[in-house]
Amino acid sequence: MSQANQTASLGAIRHDWSAAEVKALFEQPFNDLLFQAQTVHRANFDPNAVQVSTLLSIKTGACPEDCKYCPQSNRYDTGLEQEKLMEVEKVLAEARAAKAQGSSRFCMGAAWRSPKKKDMPYVTAMVKGVKEMGLETCMTLGMLSAEQAAELAEAGLDYYNHNLDTSPEYYGEIITTRTYGDRLNTLANVRDAGIKVCSGGIVGMGESVSDRAGLLIQLANLPVHPESVPINMLVRVEGTPLAEEADLDAFDFIRTIAVARILMPKSHVRLSAGREEMNEQMHSLAYFAGANSIFYGEKLLTTPNPKANKDLQLFERLGIKPEQRCVEQDDDQQQAAVMAAVEKQQNDKFFYDATA
Ligand code: SF4
Repeated sequence: MSQANQTASLGAIRHDWSAAEVKALFEQPFNDLLFQAQTVHRANFDPNAVQVSTLLSIKTGACPEDCKYCPQSNRYDTGLEQEKLMEVEKVLAEARAAKAQGSSRFCMGAAWRSPKKKDMPYVTAMVKGVKEMGLETCMTLGMLSAEQAAELAEAGLDYYNHNLDTSPEYYGEIITTRTYGDRLNTLANVRDAGIKVCSGGIVGMGESVSDRAGLLIQLANLPVHPESVPINMLVRVEGTPLAEEADLDAFDFIRTIAVARILMPKSHVRLSAGREEMNEQMHSLAYFAGANSIFYGEKLLTTPNPKANKDLQLFERLGIKPEQRCVEQDDDQQQAAVMAAVEKQQNDKFFYDATA
């Protein structure tokens, strides 16, 4: 496609992106790329709103898969404490607290290859209970069969997260226990069941720019764009094979966000893993490039969480408001809940840490 045609088609919903086109987007001058991404972003979203989700690990560690970045794999000794599937009531208590803090979506993650038959009654009870609170529900449980996806849909699950991680070409360097095709099958099962799709990947695993382009092309060329696209920055966990991976250039990460925004104009692009290594300037650049969703992190509700505190304060400084997604709370109520949380944290010496 010529430069002129490319500019004209900016912001169009397409499912036919070529490798050359996307590589060209990545390679243009940084300011041009950000300008295009921000233009697409403004045409589709309130540029000063960010969706806030809370993530809870409902079953931690002992995963049989071999994802090289993951401390939850049982193949790597990372010192992670394993936990069995949480009781339904405990999960619901965490969801209640997340809602009080202004979260509009509650995501529950289990480190499984795929859920077993005996697990399904528990996870569906969690979905029903969280949904009844007026929160959007999201789960990530590994691979799903068509039947399991239908069961979760029946329980009221709004979103299912299953990441593609990287390009098909680089995938074998990172995971060997499930194929790229397996992942695409799960995404198709989820979509066919009527559940919204959350799928993205990880940047900084030693992949090339072509691999980043390849990942985004896979996502954008799905029959329907994922509603949420998490772009993670590798967290180098000691004990995992990627612990010694080289530093990622922050601008390469921002470029990936910007290209994701351009390729999937109406999707929420989410910052999640790796945020603790991003400073405020990098966060604000990511928001400018089109990121409009964050995870608060799973420890927010049970332990002091300076990161959450910093997020809320940065929102205030940038004039960002949490996006309203919840059916039972109106905008003012949700805004009030978040602002009350900011005030509480600012006034509460136990939480407030000016050096954090
Ligand atoms: S499947 Fe998920 S939990 Fe298991 S090793 Fe891979 S990333 Fe970690």
